[in-house]
Amino acid sequence: MNSSFLYHAFGVKGYHYHATAYKDSAIFLKLKSDTPKKCKCPHCDSEKVIKYGKQYRDIHNLPIGGKQTYLSVLHRNGVMPASCRASRRSLK
Ligand SMILES: [Zn+2]
Repeated sequence: MNSSFLYHAFGVKGYHYHATAYKDSAIFLKLKSDTPKKCKCPHCDSEKVIKYGKQYRDIHNLPIGGKQTYLSVLHRNGVMPASCRASRRSLK
């Protein structure tokens, strides 16, 4: 499965196919971003984010051949740095 198929079949842009998983009679198409972005603080754009892993988020998709399908997108987790002004405000 290539990026062109993902776009024309599901309208997915900016991701490429990584793997397929089958679980409980459902199909999970695992996708990764074409441009892996660095974790940034949403408040100050600092890249000094405390990273704590990554996980797949499952997006419900149209069925294929009568089977439930999901687009699993890799997501990186992070916490704002202690030096961020926004995180200091939230502690008060
Ligand atoms: Zn910040």
